[in-house]
Amino acid sequence: MRRFQCYIDGKFSDGEACFESIDPASGRAWAEMPEAREADVDRAVKAAHEALYNGPWARTTATQRGKLLYRLADLVAAHAGKLAELETRDTGKIIRETSAQIAYVADYYRYYAGIADKIEGSYLPIDKLDMDVWLRREPIGVIAMVVPWNSQLFLSAVKIGPALAAGCTMVVKASEDGPAPLLELARLVDEAGFPPGVVNVITGFGPSCGAALSRHPKIAHIAFTGGPETARQVVRNSAENLASISLELGGKSPFIVFADADLESAANAQVAGIFAATGQSCVAGSRLIVEEAIKDRFVALLKQKAEKIRIGSPLDVATEVGPLATRRQRDRVEALVASSIEAGARLIAGGASPDRDGFYYPPTILDCDGIASPSLDNEFFGPVLSVLSFKTEEEALTLANDTGYGLAAGVFTQNLTRAHRLMKGIRAGIVWVNTYRAVSPIAPFGGFGLSGQGREGGMAAALDYTKTKTIWLRTSDDPIPDPFVMR
Ligand code: NAD
Repeated sequence: MRRFQCYIDGKFSDGEACFESIDPASGRAWAEMPEAREADVDRAVKAAHEALYNGPWARTTATQRGKLLYRLADLVAAHAGKLAELETRDTGKIIRETSAQIAYVADYYRYYAGIADKIEGSYLPIDKLDMDVWLRREPIGVIAMVVPWNSQLFLSAVKIGPALAAGCTMVVKASEDGPAPLLELARLVDEAGFPPGVVNVITGFGPSCGAALSRHPKIAHIAFTGGPETARQVVRNSAENLASISLELGGKSPFIVFADADLESAANAQVAGIFAATGQSCVAGSRLIVEEAIKDRFVALLKQKAEKIRIGSPLDVATEVGPLATRRQRDRVEALVASSIEAGARLIAGGASPDRDGFYYPPTILDCDGIASPSLDNEFFGPVLSVLSFKTEEEALTLANDTGYGLAAGVFTQNLTRAHRLMKGIRAGIVWVNTYRAVSPIAPFGGFGLSGQGREGGMAAALDYTKTKTIWLRTSDDPIPDPFVMR
């Protein structure tokens, strides 16, 4: 079995305990992971705090930070193949996707390397003649970063990149499900030459490791990605240290198809939107809202595509859908499909776990027109699409917004004015028109409502890891007048 370690204060070490990581393709243990508990968390946060205020990082210029980030980007690119294989092995995400995604993760680090020396303060046109007033932008402090199992290298890069650009230090908690790629990333952080304590990488379980990290008194900000229920616990934890918090949560994203759309293109995007990554994608377009006139034709096209999808070993480049990351997740998807069918949903494709080792579940389509199916309200985080139909544009918009979530939406139409009306009317942080699941380091990413708060990606994300300090300098040599009058 492979063994992984935590990275704390520039050193690799075992955790207070350890646990086995399960290969989702076989259902068998393949690696031993370090389990960080309260004492490890405390050590990591203290190392980050010391690095921020007293270590060499405190005297590192923004330009030097940028150079270190460029070095990390190059190392990620050079080791993308190895990292991809680890992520595939530990989470079951197919190698086709992990290879492409991790090569692109290097570009996220590059983007933030370029931003490091472009975070500027400002001079204020203050309303007093004898005062000069500036705003300095300073790192917000020690950041707790908590990520879920899917795309751990990607979800951590959108936090680590801007936080380092801003000069922060951090403790990154990898998910207990599939932590291998993130623990391996620590080796590249070390090789890039970041001073000890700047980036610490640990893993462990939510109620022990995650909770101890998010309520630690030396944490200034929590950058959390995960489900809404865990987010509520993290927000409660933050009541202790009063840390600021950004939340990237789940979704139940609508995918709207009008009769005038290019149906082949829309069907391919819908397949990408719900079956890629075996549906374990926060932006999964899990509610198809299709114009009634083309519903049968479009759903038949989707069924045909879904049934042709190659299910297999995630390490095989020909595989299109691999296993779900955990047994717990597969069982949850199975149970939700069963309760939806019980509520009246009609099964169009998939719907039964194949008889093989590993946590596989097939691409599944449920027709939910006219019924209150649990599949319409609950995020599966699995390859399950619920179908609804509409007659008018107004009805399509009402159905799209009929959710507490608001992460993403897709609109497929050739009608430009209608596309504009919908992109304004849909309540979601991202609207894709005639495309789906496109991301970039340059474009902000984040949700409305239960999908979270704060944005990752783009320049603003780096500014979010800073706080302003207001500096007042009196320019008069005259003695200060009346001390009892505020001026
Ligand atoms: P989760 O909420 O169960 O776990 C996420 C992380 O939180 C894990 O590292 C876990 O150990 C930790 N955690 C659990 N309990 C904790 C606690 N009490 N205190 C602190 N940390 C704790 O999420 P998951 O099931 O691993 O991932 C799936 C969820 O993540 C889905 O809802 C998905 O939509 C969401 N997600 C969102 C985005 C986004 O950018 N919006 C991206 C990917 C995944």
